[in-house]
Amino acid sequence: MSEFGCDGGRVAVIGGGPAGLMAAEVLARGGVAVDVYDAMPSVGRKFLMAGKSGLNLTHAEPCADFAARYGARRDWVAPWLAEFGARALREWAHGLGIETFVGSSGRVFPAEMKAAPLLRAWLHRLRAAGVRFHMRHRWLGWEADGALAFDTPSGLQKVGAGATVLALGGGSWARLGSDGAWVPMLAQRGVAVAPLRPANCGFDVAWSDHFREKFAGRPVKPVVATFGGLRRQGEFVISGNGVEGSLIYALSAALRDAIEAEGEAKGPPRSQDRLAAPHGGAPAALPSNSARAPGRPGGVTLLLDLAPGKTVERLTAEIAHPRGSRSMGSHLQSRAGIAGVKAGLLRECTAKEDYADPARLAAAVKALPLRLIAPRPLDEAISSAGGVMAETLDEQLMLRTLPGVFCAGEMLDWEAPTGGYLLTACFASGYAAGRGALAWLQPKRSSSAAN
Ligand SMILES: Cc1cc2nc3c(=O)[nH]c(=O)nc-3n(C[C@H](O)[C@H](O)[C@H](O)COP(=O)(O)OP(=O)(O)OC[C@H]3O[C@@H](n4cnc5c(N)ncnc54)[C@H](O)[C@@H]3O)c2cc1C
Repeated sequence: MSEFGCDGGRVAVIGGGPAGLMAAEVLARGGVAVDVYDAMPSVGRKFLMAGKSGLNLTHAEPCADFAARYGARRDWVAPWLAEFGARALREWAHGLGIETFVGSSGRVFPAEMKAAPLLRAWLHRLRAAGVRFHMRHRWLGWEADGALAFDTPSGLQKVGAGATVLALGGGSWARLGSDGAWVPMLAQRGVAVAPLRPANCGFDVAWSDHFREKFAGRPVKPVVATFGGLRRQGEFVISGNGVEGSLIYALSAALRDAIEAEGEAKGPPRSQDRLAAPHGGAPAALPSNSARAPGRPGGVTLLLDLAPGKTVERLTAEIAHPRGSRSMGSHLQSRAGIAGVKAGLLRECTAKEDYADPARLAAAVKALPLRLIAPRPLDEAISSAGGVMAETLDEQLMLRTLPGVFCAGEMLDWEAPTGGYLLTACFASGYAAGRGALAWLQPKRSSSAAN
């Protein structure tokens, strides 16, 4: 009998995403019998979804730059990466017959830019190594005797395990399995869990009806966005509710934190401003940009440069050029290259009076203030911030208060931008937790071998 869970001589890995499957592989390779449990009818659903956008597995930048992507959690994540980082991940994929390539941005993708072939080969190898899969097994927590409790198609099942790896994911895209329902289960057991919050997420903007109807779904590119000390060039997409896409995601942690701080400073936040709970509902209709209700937290301002590469002086001179009988729209298009959705944004976010003044209009083109009101709900985010906190785990990723129980993947309290950093940390922490569980089991295995 282990300290926590009746010993079935097998290890239970709960959660069949990249983190759980990697832990299962390490354990199976170490000679341990492994059962993978997942609430969904099949494993790896979010991984497959990531494959729909090309499956950015990892990144080819130098190790120190790579580790820095985890911000304040860098020192926590770095040892996992040292054991199983970008290079090891690529070699591992090659071992499954999946070639990878480095894109022009340094991002690493499988040659086929899909997740399904990799997952298929991986599951085949895991089954061949003796890993057993139990689908439609929703983990409910622990019974009084320490057994794991599962809701299954044949009713409640109690399972004993020599050790347990929890790899339950974050709280976004609940329909793919990771719904964050584990948060209260662990909190009740005294595990410190930082509230799950949206990461790599879009933001609400109070678009006018006219703008929304005309431009929702349109990409804005190229554009430079500045917030705080951060400045990034790229592209984003106008959504019905606001903005989303890679440029916004790159700044989203800073924007989210600033909006939260602002909400706290100005009084109690509205439900759509704070999304600590895993099941944030869709925000109520927001007032338009021009008619924001007074007294509400107003969000933060992102500055957009709609004409990267052009100086404000040049733009001023171009806009000041006599336009004759031409409309302002075609004048801006021919003189400043501002057309379509960029012209719409300029109209949406600039006071009417500024249109009459070339210097002010040029200044707006170079630093257009876009008010972001709140992060979109957690369920829509690419990933979650928050989760099981570092201090609650030992170096082997075992919960200090629940010996024999390990945690891995997005359910841990780290966050990172897109670029392959999410999957890499999931694989790496799964690897670390698998190794940790092996080390934990070693004395028991040695003594049973001796008997
Ligand atoms: C649209 C999209 C695109 C993405 N693209 C990329 C990308 O290109 N590159 C990148 O690095 N990252 C990407 N990500 C993020 C990446 O997919 C996740 O970070 C990663 O899948 C998390 O892995 P995980 O193993 O920790 O959790 P998950 O993959 O979420 O797996 C958790 C598993 O636990 C199971 N589970 C949860 N609760 C229970 C329970 N109570 N009982 C039993 N089972 C349970 C779930 O069913 C699920 O199978 C993307 C995410 C999304 C949503």
